[in-house]
Amino acid sequence: MITVIAETDHAALTLPTLECVEEARDVADGLHTSVHVLLPGHELDDLASALAAHGADQVTLVEHAALRQFSADGWLAALEPLLQEAAPTLILAPDSGHGRAWLPRLAARWYAPLVSGCIQVQVGADAQIELIRPSYGGARHEQLVCPGAGTVLATLAPGVRGVGIPRSHRHAELARVTPDLDPTAFRDRALRTLPADPRTVDLSEAELIVSGGLGLSGPEGVEMLRQLADQLGAALGGTRVIADRGWLPTERFIGTTGKIVAPRLYIGFGISGAGQHISGITDSETVIAVNTDRTAPLFSIADLGIVGDLHQIVPELMKQLGDESGAQ
Ligand SMILES: Cc1cc2nc3c(=O)[nH]c(=O)nc-3n(C[C@H](O)[C@H](O)[C@H](O)COP(=O)(O)OP(=O)(O)OC[C@H]3O[C@@H](n4cnc5c(N)ncnc54)[C@H](O)[C@@H]3O)c2cc1C
Repeated sequence: MITVIAETDHAALTLPTLECVEEARDVADGLHTSVHVLLPGHELDDLASALAAHGADQVTLVEHAALRQFSADGWLAALEPLLQEAAPTLILAPDSGHGRAWLPRLAARWYAPLVSGCIQVQVGADAQIELIRPSYGGARHEQLVCPGAGTVLATLAPGVRGVGIPRSHRHAELARVTPDLDPTAFRDRALRTLPADPRTVDLSEAELIVSGGLGLSGPEGVEMLRQLADQLGAALGGTRVIADRGWLPTERFIGTTGKIVAPRLYIGFGISGAGQHISGITDSETVIAVNTDRTAPLFSIADLGIVGDLHQIVPELMKQLGDESGAQ
């Protein structure tokens, strides 16, 4: 059995959770086994069908009011007995703050291998689970196996796999467990969830993205776009070519080989719309394209297109936004 630990944000499943479920589905198919998802939290019944649609065979709601907010001690106390009983081949969780906080504790208690930040988990020819993760700052990938380990623990880097189309006809067996927890014994607890800083938020989680391409003409153009992003409270992304030129950090380029994003609004400035870039933005709710070339392919998937020079449009937009906030 492959077990996935699901995470939620504002009572919705996070995209990295769905990526883990889909990755686990592929591994489980390769091993002819099942995918079991543990969903810790409170009043999350509505989320089971989405987990099934992305590949879960069984969903267990680990239900307790004390799990409404994350606590590493709380998750360990609630999940360890269930995992011990299930003894899965692989425990997969998003490479998130939560996963990084509690999974190492479980690995230490079990003396089990934990491979964090994987970009892929696959089944090798000899039916061994192979874990692939970047090393040397992403310059190399290493492929790991853990022979002889009872249970392998792994976290999956967000935004690499992307989330596929849900199959709503899929159903999962649903169970509910109420763990016996003593919240006063938790040594850590979250007080509240604060909104993320758009400048540092992982692009795969960003709600608003301002993105730039070679049309920015250089690092000064990227700086101008960063100022617009700050004004809008948006995250800054771009194409691979501007990251390759060093105008943008590597972790902020979008596309097949970069981040897969799903914001409410994506605005692309000076981006032609190559297939490798577009495949990273198709889950965006609304796409706006700004380009001097009216035949640029990005226009073909955009909800709104502006044919014009970004070096005139961006300063004008910033001025108008400034005027608006000044008028309030
Ligand atoms: C194996 C492989 C994987 C790849 N993976 C990715 C990936 O994951 N993500 C990715 O992004 N790319 C990826 N690429 C690169 C991709 O093929 C394109 O080369 C790249 O996306 C193009 O970037 P761009 O739109 O910034 O540049 P260009 O294609 O050069 O487009 C620049 C655009 O800016 C417009 N422009 C110029 N001046 C202005 C102005 N003043 N105002 C407004 N518009 C202006 C131009 O009309 C043009 O349309 C990959 C390529 C390969 C071979």
